Formats: sequence, C-alpha cells, structure tokens
Amino acid sequence: MARVYNFSAGPSMLPEEVLKTAAAEMLEYGETGQSVMEMSHRSKEYQAIFDQTEADLREIMNIPDNYEVLFLQGGASTQFAMVPLNLMTGSGKADYIITGQWANKAYKEAARYGKARAVASSADKTYSYIPKTKREDFDPEADYVHICMNNTIYGTKYHELPDTGDVPLVADISSCILSEPIDVSRFGVLYAGAQKNVAPAGVTIVIIRKDLIGKAMDITPTMLNYATHSENGSMFNTPPCYAIYIAGLTFKWIKKMGGLEEMKKYNENKAKILYDFLDSSRLFKGTVVPEDRSLMNVPFVTGSDELDAKFVSEAKKAGFVNIKGHRSVGGMRASIYNAMPTEGVQKLVEFMKKFEEENA
Ligand SMILES: *Cc1c(COP(=O)(O)O)cnc(C)c1O
Repeated sequence: MARVYNFSAGPSMLPEEVLKTAAAEMLEYGETGQSVMEMSHRSKEYQAIFDQTEADLREIMNIPDNYEVLFLQGGASTQFAMVPLNLMTGSGKADYIITGQWANKAYKEAARYGKARAVASSADKTYSYIPKTKREDFDPEADYVHICMNNTIYGTKYHELPDTGDVPLVADISSCILSEPIDVSRFGVLYAGAQKNVAPAGVTIVIIRKDLIGKAMDITPTMLNYATHSENGSMFNTPPCYAIYIAGLTFKWIKKMGGLEEMKKYNENKAKILYDFLDSSRLFKGTVVPEDRSLMNVPFVTGSDELDAKFVSEAKKAGFVNIKGHRSVGGMRASIYNAMPTEGVQKLVEFMKKFEEENA
C-alpha cells in the first residue's frame, strides 16, 4: 500500500491515526459486538460517543457555556439558508462581505429571505485579498454580518475580524475550523462542513449563541430551525452518526497534538515552507496578497496554462494528487489542512524546485 500526499480542497486528508483507529474499530466498537455504523443513535453506547465528541470540541475550541453546539446535516451550503431563516427576523436586513464564491452563494441565498446587502467585495481582483471594512460600513440595524473566514478557492483568510459593533458576526469556517484558536465569543454563529478539517462529508458543525435561537421565520421548515436541533440534542432525527464518531477521533488527535495553539504553530510552519518557496521561485508565484494568505489553501500559478497542466500531471505521477486549482481560478492549489504532514509539504517543494530547474 502506498498512500499519496492528497492536496484536495475537500473532502481531504484525515490524520492517519484517525483512520487506523476507525479501521481497528470497524467490526466491533469496544465490546458492543457491532460497528458504530450499525448502532442505534438512541443507544447508550452511541450517546456516550456523541457526548464525548461534543465535550472534546467544547474543550478544544474553548466554547463558552452560552453557546449551543449542533451536529447537523446538509453541509455548509444548507447553512446559507438556515442562517437567514433563523436570524433575519429583527429588521429583516443582513450585511454580507463578498470574498469569493462561497460568500457569494451565502449572500444570494439570504437575498431570497430578506434584505441582504453586499457591503464590500474583492471580486475586482479575483478575490485575491480581503476587503478592508470599518464599523461605519455596517448597518447597525442589520440582524447579522456574514463573512467567509477562510476562502477555500482563492486562498485568503481573515487575520483580523471586521468590527461590526453590536451586530452579531456570522462566519463560515468550513475550511479553517480547528486550524488555530478562535475567540468564539466574538461570533453569533460559526458553521463548518466537516469534510475539510474534521471528518468525512455528512456532518455540519454549528456553534450558535443561545439567545439567537428561537426567532426563526414562520416559513422555516422544522428541520432548518436551530431550535428543533438544540431542543433535541441534535437528535430530532437520525444524526450523521458515523461522521460524528470520526469527528470525535479527530478531536482526540488534536488534543494529543497539544490543542489549537500547537496546531497553529504546526500549520504556520507548514505554510511558511510553501510560501517562502513561492516568494523566491523564478517559475511559481502565489496569487494572494501576503497579508491575507490562508494557512490552509495555497493557490499558485506559473503564468503559463501549458506549464500549469504539465506540473499538475507530473505531480500526480509523483504521488502529489488533487493539486489542480479550482476551475474558476486555474493554476494550482495545495490544500494543506491539519492532517497534511510537514513532510508532505517539504516533498512538494522539493518536487517544485526540480520542476522549476527543468522548465524555467
Ligand atoms: C467547501 C465549502 C463550502 C461548501 O460546503 P458543503 O458542505 O459542500 O456544502 C462552503 N463554504 C466553504 C468556505 C467551503 O470551503
């Protein structure tokens, strides 16, 4: 067996230790005589897995008690609708910052339910930077301000949060959750699909301030109402049991790695190896302004479509897979989430150096 270095933007690599534990527990979890996949979600064995998973997430992210943690389905894309359906019920207005395709999809969905306003955008330069905002830019009457914290496709990230005054900040953290510490108390809602940094696709994590629950629009489907899930411990219906179990294994792995402060150092070191090379290369060039660079998604180009295609194809043969950029940007993108080992990035850079010598 030869495992490749998988630079996929999502679904993406999981820690090998997590996969090994899952494999060892596949036929029998503990002494239950069954796989986690086969368990009743109402059983005490499964409830114990679920409770430990939530407790570990609360510990790792230092989630205050006045926040609810929900494990839902539907992906981050369903949150694009759930957020406005549940929150856009005071003034019926919400402000959005457009930093890429995901942010734009969230904005368009919100516009179906209320007065969504695009406050700022970086579309003018292919989303290669985070637009600066001031408190005065935001409507003080807005029910919330929405941002996409890490822009998976374009490789930008908020290193400083916008000042929204008293208006709750809502953030899509699908591609940066657990990559570094985050001050949960600065947000009204945080949400993330699991398939970038946590687990297989299927579970969506929502962290919501309790006072924001229970105000949904009348038209809100029962399944899209945060209250439905908070009142039922995320078990109103069958939760994505197995994905939640894998998330739990990932949380244990992060605790063993030393928590989010350590993950941050680890990720900064990994990203620096790649960015330092890009900044000194004669052939490859990063596409994002240095101050807004993501630790998780690193897009780069050679400047020639032909050479880009040749690089992607040779990289694949050498065991570096899924490194092609998003179809809307072209070039390459290396997604280096928590589970990507430092060695994977070092070897990629060695390979890039060799390619440069042969082609530049
Ligand atoms: C992947 C991604 C999404 C879409 O997630 P789904 O779970 O597929 O709906 C949304 N936002 C961001 C930032 C993403 O990276």
